[in-house]
Amino acid sequence: MNCPPVFSSASVMGYVVIMTFNIVTAVFAALFVLHQGFELVLDFVQMGYLKARRGRVPKHLKGRIDVETIDKAIAYNTDKLRLSVVSRLWDAALLWAMVGFGFAWLDALVEGLGWPPLPTGLLFFAALGCALTAASLPFELWSVFGVETRHGFNRQGPAGFFVDKMKSVILGGLLAGGMLTALLVMMGRAERFWWLIAFAVLAVFQLVVAWAFPVLIMPLFNTFTPVEGELAQRIKKLAKDVNFPVDRVFTMDGSRRTAHSNAFIVGLPGARRIVFYDTLVEKISEPQLLAVLAHELGHFKLGHLRKRLIFSMAGMLAMLFLLDLSKGTPSFYHGLGFAAVSDHAALVVFGLMVSELLAPAGWLGRCLSRRAERAADRFAVDAVGNPDDLGDALVALTKQNLSSPGSHKLYRGYYNTHPGLKGRLASMRQYAQQREKVSQSAEIDGAVSPEGADQVNDVDGERRGDAQLADKGPVGNIDEGKK
Ligand SMILES: [Zn+2]
Repeated sequence: MNCPPVFSSASVMGYVVIMTFNIVTAVFAALFVLHQGFELVLDFVQMGYLKARRGRVPKHLKGRIDVETIDKAIAYNTDKLRLSVVSRLWDAALLWAMVGFGFAWLDALVEGLGWPPLPTGLLFFAALGCALTAASLPFELWSVFGVETRHGFNRQGPAGFFVDKMKSVILGGLLAGGMLTALLVMMGRAERFWWLIAFAVLAVFQLVVAWAFPVLIMPLFNTFTPVEGELAQRIKKLAKDVNFPVDRVFTMDGSRRTAHSNAFIVGLPGARRIVFYDTLVEKISEPQLLAVLAHELGHFKLGHLRKRLIFSMAGMLAMLFLLDLSKGTPSFYHGLGFAAVSDHAALVVFGLMVSELLAPAGWLGRCLSRRAERAADRFAVDAVGNPDDLGDALVALTKQNLSSPGSHKLYRGYYNTHPGLKGRLASMRQYAQQREKVSQSAEIDGAVSPEGADQVNDVDGERRGDAQLADKGPVGNIDEGKK
């Protein structure tokens, strides 16, 4: 790390600098160890949990999934956890090497060219981006050609993988380059409220990307085929029943890369698409497919995606304000490995601090996500009129994706964006029973009981969302929704 020369001069200023230096480094290190250490322990806890469950089918899946599939799912998820542990340790080593000497070395190198601040900053990020992409590549290869191939999911050869990788690196570089240019220009102009202007620019940028994503970006990676015929009619009818304007329904050739399945809705109003993986359409029945769609529609109608967008915008505004407050303090830069103060260094240092400080916010977001998933499940029960179609679809997807057959309480509570399968099946059934009771008492009394009305209106009451980005599908990612 770059200690400013202090003790020889022993100036008051120097003393302050080195004290702050120690404190910033110490606070960051403490948060880092706490956060990463906790997640590492959880990975091992989950591995132990899975190991103890080999060779038997959990009660809620008896008769629906065989023991071989459970064991396959346990082997697959254990392999993924191992990869997570190793890549986490590698990332930690890399981060501390950068803080220790990497940032200062790279910074001196690009500053030495004597360019103006904007191109210097962009060159710094380009070099850092390339180095980080190269450093994470072995783990991506291990994941795709090791874990995913071994468990029968990968359908891509090395050539296809590298074409995809090049495309995403170029695209990611353009998007990140655009955002960083905007930020660095605003910071460089040093106006009092630069962060407000930067927020407005970035917010518009985010909305444009959300609009362009399904229309311009996704077709670069996949082929979309419009769904036609009777199935399309049924999909449109269901969407119409819940008063959601469907623009277009597609299947996507997900099978070109992976045997995993999913479904999602993307796009802003006017360019919305419902997309099913071709693997999903092949593997589940039509009523199940419609129930999956109803769940996705639920997220839109209940305003989940709109709320998520508002939260992320509010978070971005708060971050930019805090960045403005902290970017004038040299001790921040020195504490995390930068010898000199610059706008690009401010972004790196602030990003590192925030990634540790915001870990609890990430957990809170996942808790809210689980709540939203339960609400979307209830919405689907209302829309299709029974809890079994979605329940059966979830079991089929769990089987096909080899999702974790269960998770340790702590692991589930911390990581999962979706509730466990067992809980979802039970709460959908319970909700359907309540609906039944409500409609029976309505028939008998000629009126709806207040308690039951609330339950159903809970869903109806919020049916007015017009939301934006993509949901991750009814089962989220594999292994019960852990990212
Ligand atoms: Zn969902």
